[in-house]
Amino acid sequence: MPLRRQISVLSTRLPQRRAIFTTRDIQHLNATVNALVHVSKTPQTTRHDGALHGMTLAIKDNICTASLPTTCSSAMLAGYTSPFDATVVELLRDEGAQIIGKANCDEFGMGSLNVNSIHGPVVNPFQPTDAHDVPLMAHEPRSAGGSSGGSAASVAARLCTAALGTDTGGSVRLPASYCGVVGLKPSYGLISRWGVVSFADSLDCVGVLARSVDTVKEVFDVISVYDARDPTAASPELRKRASSTAESCLPKLFSSVRANTLDGLRIGVPQEYFPLELEPSITSSLRTIIRNLKDAGATIRPVSLPATQYALSAYYVIASAEASSNLARFDGIQYGLRVPPPAGASRSKPSNVYAHSRSSGFGREVRKRILLGTYALTADAFDNYFLQAQRVRAYIKADFNRVFRHPCVHLAHPESCLSADGVDVLLHPSAIRTAPRLAEKRECDTSSIDEYLQDVMTVPASLAGLPALSVPAGLGEDGWPVGMTVVGQWGTDQLVLQVGRVIE
Ligand code: GLN
Repeated sequence: MPLRRQISVLSTRLPQRRAIFTTRDIQHLNATVNALVHVSKTPQTTRHDGALHGMTLAIKDNICTASLPTTCSSAMLAGYTSPFDATVVELLRDEGAQIIGKANCDEFGMGSLNVNSIHGPVVNPFQPTDAHDVPLMAHEPRSAGGSSGGSAASVAARLCTAALGTDTGGSVRLPASYCGVVGLKPSYGLISRWGVVSFADSLDCVGVLARSVDTVKEVFDVISVYDARDPTAASPELRKRASSTAESCLPKLFSSVRANTLDGLRIGVPQEYFPLELEPSITSSLRTIIRNLKDAGATIRPVSLPATQYALSAYYVIASAEASSNLARFDGIQYGLRVPPPAGASRSKPSNVYAHSRSSGFGREVRKRILLGTYALTADAFDNYFLQAQRVRAYIKADFNRVFRHPCVHLAHPESCLSADGVDVLLHPSAIRTAPRLAEKRECDTSSIDEYLQDVMTVPASLAGLPALSVPAGLGEDGWPVGMTVVGQWGTDQLVLQVGRVIE
């Protein structure tokens, strides 16, 4: 039976919020999509009065769970099970959510197509239809996006109500866009990273994926709490300051947005988010969304974020540098796979164990990033690469602060920085195209540049630590989902979600 039919037959069995399928059903559906890499065998007993009671969730395989392995899709951690739950998992369980399994991802979160995984690629479960809404049976398998492809695909295939992913440079928003679901990368520091395997600490965020903005908000409200175990967590004072600064500066706007109208809302469309590579049908979807937003009372303005053109290069330098340092712990001695050197090699030299363990445990993309990152941090390259990338990051933050009406609460005197003619949120396409065919990746296997290009729209908000929400926005010319992203000032996640609700 085709996947779409299997899903709809199974979905009619139980109301959406309840534990949808049995373990066998999940395994059966998952066989085609490869979204889950470990499936929970037994339903957990959860709190009946919890805010998330009856909700089922998949957790990306780089977020620690004590009941299921955490492999980060890497041979380095094959078979590893954490002795503890990450804070986010604890919070979900405390509110009655059921964890149904661990979601496939790119190795250590590095990738945009979910093809860099020891568990194999995730197949996008979206079912395209023809002009008469008849499913197109013979279509080539497409990527679910990455690196949280398993999280997005498990939500899109209705294996669970919602999923957690991580987003360092776009890994929640890109798969959300490709699979036709909603994906939130929150403001940096709002959700605890304790128990999340680090890729690039200054960028890593836990994100939420679901089929509606309301479900994303339900999960976000439970997990966005201060956690003293995460040294980069935003303090309770800063959180309070962010919501009160925004609301006290613009009380009328917040009350109209809460009432689901957009009267008084100013939306900026950044002119730099229309690269040559952008598929024309995505621009048409954006036009339709803009028309709807205007009808709902919003004002649309073009804005300019000139440093955007350098964002992708800066991101790959910073993310690789931080990754090279973070992944140094997987040395076959303290952590991870241990591969003894071949007979004859000197066993007394630890570097041999390191080298053999790391060469066998890490995949090609991870090894490449470690080498690039290590180079960027060497004395010779530091000024030209790492420092330069940090400068670009500062320009990108300054660009956003210049266009937003809400001041950034990280600044010394935010109240004095209210920019009278600024915008409240930004709107832009989530990706330059619809989901690529999986075969495309194999055809151009030697180059990562195309893959890196997929992140061109998502990395600026990551570098600035801003909340960004990808919402489905119709279909492209090829009949596959298109996503639009709403970006807000730091700490205005609730505003971003409210605007997303009007778009969906
Ligand atoms: N595609 C980007 C990368 O490979 C982003 C990954 C992520 O957000 N985890 O670095």
